[in-house]
Amino acid sequence: MSESREWMIQWLRDAHAMEEQAETMLSGQLSRIETYPELRERIRLHLEETRQQASRLKTCLDRIDEGSFTVKDAGGKLMALAQSISGVFAGDEVMKGSLASYTFEHMEIASYTILIAAANAEGETEIVQACEQNLREEEAMAEWLKSRLGQTTQTFLTRAAADSDSAKR
Ligand code: MG
Ligand code: FE
Repeated sequence: MSESREWMIQWLRDAHAMEEQAETMLSGQLSRIETYPELRERIRLHLEETRQQASRLKTCLDRIDEGSFTVKDAGGKLMALAQSISGVFAGDEVMKGSLASYTFEHMEIASYTILIAAANAEGETEIVQACEQNLREEEAMAEWLKSRLGQTTQTFLTRAAADSDSAKR
């Protein structure tokens, strides 16, 4: 197998591991931001997309592997990031979560952009198409998150001030 093909497969595996971490992260967030319904709904939608993305990549990996070797994700690499994102934060979890999600989406955008170039070089149309679809969903999520960052911050600060006032009374 050529060197460039081996790298493409490695990156495909990394992307699959990344989506599994994304699923963990988004599920964790979903359970902790009950008081931000709009954000919650968008995260719920992206969690569904994320599961589809993972299965799209798995289909590509299964076809490539053809049983010659088992797919082993580099799951550990991204574990630390996802754990820091899905961990418990002191009070401002909605802000830490927004920051982390926006960052994570951009890691996904970069990963798929790289994979698309590598798969194009290999003439792997199916992989290109799967990654393009995933990329579009990550870009849409990143844009949505960015468009809400200001409002989420204002809501958070307004509530924090109200909580502080009632605590002083
Ligand atoms: Mg994703
Ligand atoms: Fe994503």
